Formats: sequence, C-alpha cells, structure tokens
Amino acid sequence: MLETARQYRRCKKSPVEKTRAFLEKIRSDTFNAFITVDEAGALQGAQVAEELLKSPDAGALAGIPVAIKDNICTRGVRTTCASKILSGFVPTYDATVVKKLKEQGAVILGKTNLDEFAMGSTTTSSIAGPTRNPRDPSRTPGGSSGGSGAAVAAGLCAGALGSDTGGSIRMPASFCGITGLKPTYGSVSRYGLVAFASSLDQIGPMAPTARDAAVLFDAIKGYDPLDSTSVPRDYGPTDLDGIDLKGLRIGVPEEFFGEGLNQEVKAAVQSGIAVLEDMGGRIVEVGLPHAGYGVAVFYIVATAEASSNLARYDGVRYGLRVQDPLDLGDMYARTRATGFGPEVKRRIMLGTYVLSAGYYDAYYRKASQVRTLIAEDFRSAFSRCDIIAGPTTPVTAFRLDEMIDDPLSLYLLDIYTIPANLAGLPALSMPCGFDSLGLPVGMQLMAPHFREDLLLGAGISFQDRTAYHQEGS
Ligand code: GLN
Repeated sequence: MLETARQYRRCKKSPVEKTRAFLEKIRSDTFNAFITVDEAGALQGAQVAEELLKSPDAGALAGIPVAIKDNICTRGVRTTCASKILSGFVPTYDATVVKKLKEQGAVILGKTNLDEFAMGSTTTSSIAGPTRNPRDPSRTPGGSSGGSGAAVAAGLCAGALGSDTGGSIRMPASFCGITGLKPTYGSVSRYGLVAFASSLDQIGPMAPTARDAAVLFDAIKGYDPLDSTSVPRDYGPTDLDGIDLKGLRIGVPEEFFGEGLNQEVKAAVQSGIAVLEDMGGRIVEVGLPHAGYGVAVFYIVATAEASSNLARYDGVRYGLRVQDPLDLGDMYARTRATGFGPEVKRRIMLGTYVLSAGYYDAYYRKASQVRTLIAEDFRSAFSRCDIIAGPTTPVTAFRLDEMIDDPLSLYLLDIYTIPANLAGLPALSMPCGFDSLGLPVGMQLMAPHFREDLLLGAGISFQDRTAYHQEGS
C-alpha cells in the first residue's frame, strides 16, 4: 500500500492504471472473494484520486484500491450480507467508514464475500457460494470476513475492511496469512454496518502488513455523531515506524495454551513470542480465569442481539418480500423462512429463546454478569502487563469438506478471539509461522482500550524483523 503510494508520488504509476490492473486480476479470481465488483465506480474513484494526487496534501490512501465486506453499506452498490433477504438491497448512503475512505481518495473495488450476516467461521453460508483460501484452495479462508481475507492474500486489492463480532477479522487474517485488527469498541463508527450483535460488532482493517493495517485504521477511526456508541476522544495518528519493544511487558495467559490448541500452532505462537522477547519484551505470566466461558457467553449475548436486530427484515420496509401472501402473518413468515439461511435461523431461534420470559434471568442476565467478570480479568491482567500475546485460533485453515456441518465445533474455534469482543478491547492477528503443511499460523496481540498504537507498533516492529508476512504492492 505504501509502496504504491510512493509510486504515485514519483509518477511511476497512476491510480487508473493500478485500478485497471486490480480489476483485471479480480476478473480471473478463482477464490470467489467478491460478491459484487464495481468496475465503473472504481474507475471513477481512480480518476478522482488522480486529481487529488496533484495536491501535495493528498494522504497515503489516495488512489489505493481497497475492498469492503458486503455487510457495510455502499451508496448505489448493492449490499447483500450474503443473504437472500438482502440480495436486491441497494443502500442510499455510504457507511461512515466508506465515506471516510472515499474522502481520502481510496478506490473502492467492490464488496467481498462473507458468511450470511457475518454469522460463521468459514465463508461458506453465502448466497454467492463459498470463498476459497488462496494459500490452499481446498481450504476455508476462515470467516466471516473470508472474502476480504482471501482478496488481500490473493493480491486482489491492496487492503480491505472486515467486521469482527467474535473474531471475524482475526480468524480469516490468521487462516490467510495476513494482518487484521479488531479495534476498540467505539473507536470506529458502526454507522452503515449491518448490525449482527451491536454491543460486539466493530469494523476493522485487513491488509498484507501491520503498517498497511495502520494506514487503513487511521483513515476510518474517530468519533462519529451518527453512532451513539462512538467515543469522542483525541485519536492521534499511528507511528508507522513501529515501537521499541525494550521493556514492554508481554502477558502470556496460560488459559490460551491449554487443551484444544493444536501443537504446531502452539509451537509457532511460542516462537513468535520468543521473537518479541528477543527484541526486548519482558514475558509476564497472567491469568484470564473466566476466558473459558467466553464462547458460552458469546452465543447467548450475540444471538440475543441478533434476534432483535434481524427482526427488521419483515418484507415490509426493504429486502425480499414473497409474492401473493394470504395475509400479513403469512407474508412475514414466508419472507423470513425463504430469506434467511439455516445458520441465521438457528441464531434467531437461540436468541429468542434466551430472551424469553422465564429464561432471561437464567441465560441473558447470567451471561451479562460473566461478561463483566471477563472484562475484569483483563483489567487485572493489564495492571501487570502492557499487551497480551497468544494464538488467534486453535487450528490452521481446515478443508472445506471438514467440520462445516457441525456448528458446535465451529463455535469453539472462536475461543481465543471472543474475549476481546466481550471486553471491547482492541486485538490484532498477524502471521507468526507455518504448520507442517505450510499453512499460516496467526499470533494474537491484545491491549487495553484505545491502545491500538501498541498493537500496530509491536506488529510493525515484529514484521520488520521477521518474514512470515507477505509485503503487499
Ligand atoms: N464466528 C463467530 C460467529 O459465528 C463470530 C462471527 C463474527 O465475528 N462476525 O458468530
């Protein structure tokens, strides 16, 4: 991304040329990374960027081709959430993140594939069919932002946006060998992000390197009055030179290295942590005693919020409406029965159940209480360390014909990523090695609220020292 920006400055390449080259590559994409490609919009954006670049004030993103997960609204370009119920939905407005990217001259190439309504870990439950992992096309790219992960890993865009409710940026980043950041809750506007679980959702960058992710994060972060959970504060720019790791206290929670963690993943993450130590970091053992309840808490809180958020798809306001209904009830019922896929229905049913009278106290209230305990675990851990390091996922990318029929084992893949969402903390995943099949392994770093500077800074310094990542263009 930064190399392209430099080429533009030296007039070695033009945004229109670069955009054409990416569009050409996307045309022969065999990984199914995109749901919609906006050729006309992208070329128009590239022309605007050429004008912008005539000014010395143009930012690093001017003319940079990026891709957007298809649950983020784009004015005039359909936004499907990979669901039949929204397959014909064309938003009349841009999400705040898209507006910001456009204002800074980024070129939007199109919309990337995902699990329906961002519910999943494989990018298979999409109306557009499954996305494949560019590292091995017989495998999943992870999910739910697997389209963005695959597009970045295959070089079909310079960077992308994903969304992360329980790990959906970090898991595909880990499986595809790229860098992904889930920002602090409230630091990036959710306005225009189709809601899955509003208290957990965050939009974030996915890119070849931590440096590229930092450029994208800086472009989209900041207070937005259109999002009532957006936090007003001074968001300074990230230092793209990285940070000095000398004396940085790196917390390693034993709970993240227990049973269920693949041995090869464990070895790669431990070697990544050893690099951080070698660069001057100080390892501190920390405990996250309630983190193990994270998956259970998540599937109560997230499904409860999803059941409420998805009530709006009723065939009346927008989206699918079945033909010739008998009456209003029949129209609601058949629209939703036809429009939603099995996993989304499963979540709506679970969410309705945990919120129902008689079960609310046993499930939703209890889950909210445990969520607070998980947040407190982090608070006390961060009194002893600056960042926490561990694996992103317990396994590497699995084959598309494995596991995807068993929802429970898929839910368990989010065991290390969910705690950061429940506590609202920022978390980054970056490559730290490979397993014996040559598949990338992701290392996760977590930090206190609004300390993305530590995550990106440590990521940049780590990547300047190692070669597990691939430089983008
Ligand atoms: N994999 C988790 C799920 O299926 C998280 C998804 C996400 O972060 N959007 O819900």
